[in-house]
Amino acid sequence: MKAVLFHTHGGLEVLEYTHFPTPEVGDGQVMVKLEAAALNRVDIWTRNGWPGIKLEYPHIPGSDGAGTVAAIGACVTDWKVGDRVVINSNLGCGHCPACIAGQDNRCSDWHLLGETVRGTYAEYIAVPATNLMTVPPGYDFHKAAAAALVFHTAWHSLIVRGGLRTGESVLVVGASGGVNTASIQVAKLAGAIVYVVGSGEEKLKLAESLGADYLIDRSKDENWSKTIYNLTNKQGVDVVVDNVGTTFPLSFRAATKGGRILTVGNSGGAKFEIDNRLIFGRHLSVLGSSMGTRADFARVMGLVFEGKLKPVMDRDYPLREAHLAQERLEQGAQLGKITLTIGNG
Ligand SMILES: [Zn+2]
Repeated sequence: MKAVLFHTHGGLEVLEYTHFPTPEVGDGQVMVKLEAAALNRVDIWTRNGWPGIKLEYPHIPGSDGAGTVAAIGACVTDWKVGDRVVINSNLGCGHCPACIAGQDNRCSDWHLLGETVRGTYAEYIAVPATNLMTVPPGYDFHKAAAAALVFHTAWHSLIVRGGLRTGESVLVVGASGGVNTASIQVAKLAGAIVYVVGSGEEKLKLAESLGADYLIDRSKDENWSKTIYNLTNKQGVDVVVDNVGTTFPLSFRAATKGGRILTVGNSGGAKFEIDNRLIFGRHLSVLGSSMGTRADFARVMGLVFEGKLKPVMDRDYPLREAHLAQERLEQGAQLGKITLTIGNG
């Protein structure tokens, strides 16, 4: 099969579009002929590498993918060749206490497709049958792939970990990334009032089109936590979604007493100083999460397929141009999700 892979960590130049043996379909697995993949920041982090990461080379990146069932392994009864599917990229072991409790994203042997296991920048992938969900007829594979990881992540963070309730106020720090565009929509669907801090008119217009109620341009307003404070009648917001990281000090200031700070990542950097007094003085809860459970995936993708949540689509590239797609993501030039076309690539 054709795949994009790398043999060593490094910059865009390590990505190769080449032949790679088509994987075998194991017991309990389904082979998917991928039509589309979607990019995530983890693709770039994995390519760059970090201390302690152990990959089996060559490594194929890519967590998100959708396509059709091409072959079925032993013990699989609920799929047939030709079924349209989207992949849940969370690989839990299925038998540890967390998995048995339905918290498979806390699995003691958890893996993410494309991170430590070969991923979706390829014509074929073999995945556990339990990691597939049906894509309804007529729903675009690119949109299905683009929605999966980000909506799954945003749902688990806001609804499951954050316990978001109708009428609460939510601040989303950042306007254009995949998880943030998903978070704005999930918060609106839950009946929240949504504030967005973003950089530049174009990104804020996108946030507005997704339903954001209040827009703050941080390129013109460095002290945006004060603006939030004033906009909320000097109360602050109930929930802050901060997946930037380095903005935490301002996010803490934007939260109301008893507020929750939700985080699933750190697009701006992992390390920063915080003033502890803000946490206890405001009775804040900091709630981290990573990806979501199998139940979350079914719930949120159901809403995606009903059209209640819509992935924001940036650009599409053929698989062979995955390096150009990653370059666009690295530059932060995208508005929404970047995808790859794999079928007929
Ligand atoms: Zn497990």
